[in-house]
Amino acid sequence: MSTKSILSDRINNLSESATLKMTKLGRELAAKGINVISLSVGEPDFNTPEHVKDAAKRALDENWTRYSPVSGYPELRQAIVNKLKNENGLDYDISNIVVSTGAKQSLSNVLLTLVNPGDEVIIPTPYWVSYSEMVVLAEGKSVFIDTTIESDFKITPEQLEAAITPKSKVFMFSSPCNPTGSVYSKEELEGLVRVFEKHPDIYIISDEIYEHINFVDQHESIAQFPSIKDRVIIINGFSKAFAMTGWRLGYIAANKEIAAANEKMQGQTTSGTCSISQRAGIIAYEQGLESVLEMKEAFARRRQLVYDLLNDIPGVKTNLPDGAFYFFPEISSFFGKKDPDGNVINNSADLALYLLNFGHVATVGGDSFGNNNYIRLSYAASDENLIEALKRIKEALGKLK
Ligand code: PMP
Ligand code: GLU
Repeated sequence: MSTKSILSDRINNLSESATLKMTKLGRELAAKGINVISLSVGEPDFNTPEHVKDAAKRALDENWTRYSPVSGYPELRQAIVNKLKNENGLDYDISNIVVSTGAKQSLSNVLLTLVNPGDEVIIPTPYWVSYSEMVVLAEGKSVFIDTTIESDFKITPEQLEAAITPKSKVFMFSSPCNPTGSVYSKEELEGLVRVFEKHPDIYIISDEIYEHINFVDQHESIAQFPSIKDRVIIINGFSKAFAMTGWRLGYIAANKEIAAANEKMQGQTTSGTCSISQRAGIIAYEQGLESVLEMKEAFARRRQLVYDLLNDIPGVKTNLPDGAFYFFPEISSFFGKKDPDGNVINNSADLALYLLNFGHVATVGGDSFGNNNYIRLSYAASDENLIEALKRIKEALGKLK
């Protein structure tokens, strides 16, 4: 019998999403009756606001149940244009907007529409898990710019300049950042823009899905700089701001050529996203940010709570993230130690598995985000669960010898 895989090289070369894997393992343990606290998946623990749910119910009653336009209903795209104008001071037209089944699909579509085999995609580390794997799917080459907790996980213009080669096609980043929570200020973005001005063939994917979860300042988009705006592709969506992760609703704002290419891509793969989600999305954007602000208050409180609890664990080093709802503490002091069964913790993935199996807390190893010395904790969980989870983590880490 042939030992050759029946699967394509494309899928064989792809890693499984670590965030989803750890969440699955946590669920499997919970199904066995074990009380597992999940800090692995980045998902608001709030319910979708009532007015958004009501809009979906109305959409069903009004029979919004047929194929939707591939790039989204014009009313939703107009609501997105209005939001970009009113909240971000950015001018777009509905022909610049393509609605998708989530920011994840938008990111993947944009890479598939821009990257040729061998093109380089510059990604600051730590980055969101799926970035590097989407580059694999697009047959591009990821070029990483490493950062550490000491620089608040942000890159400098000099580092950016040094990473650029004649093959550079795309730069992609998130601010506020998943997994570090770092937020680039307007001045810091401006420094990067000066570099992009010298390299007119590089496109910038700006993932702004956490824009409303920013504890320090107002959100700054890199698209605000006119010299490069035409080369910026904004990625955003409804998952985080409106606690709508299951609804699968995201979008891009980009120049017309890129927007049309994304529409073509979706037209051959998924078509327009769920009609009911889109009708609800219109109401979410038209009715404003009240519920988002309530969630942000809770996240701000939990951020301080988790910061204090992490600082109380020997061997763990953390910063206070400016945005999103993650901590990315340094945990490399535990490498080389043994768990109570005698297994050595060699890396962040081992540590995350140990915390799951011994501490019953699901986290994600930093290796999947491009930096092995850290783990990621999501604090989109109740205060009570956070207190218990950090207690368990402290106890479990204390047992490593
Ligand atoms: N970008 C980042 C940085 C994320 O953390 C996530 C996870 N939600 C996404 C994109 C994908 O979001 P969506 O649920 O809209 O696909
Ligand atoms: N973005 C979330 C996370 O990083 C959701 C999970 C995923 O899509 O990977 O945990």
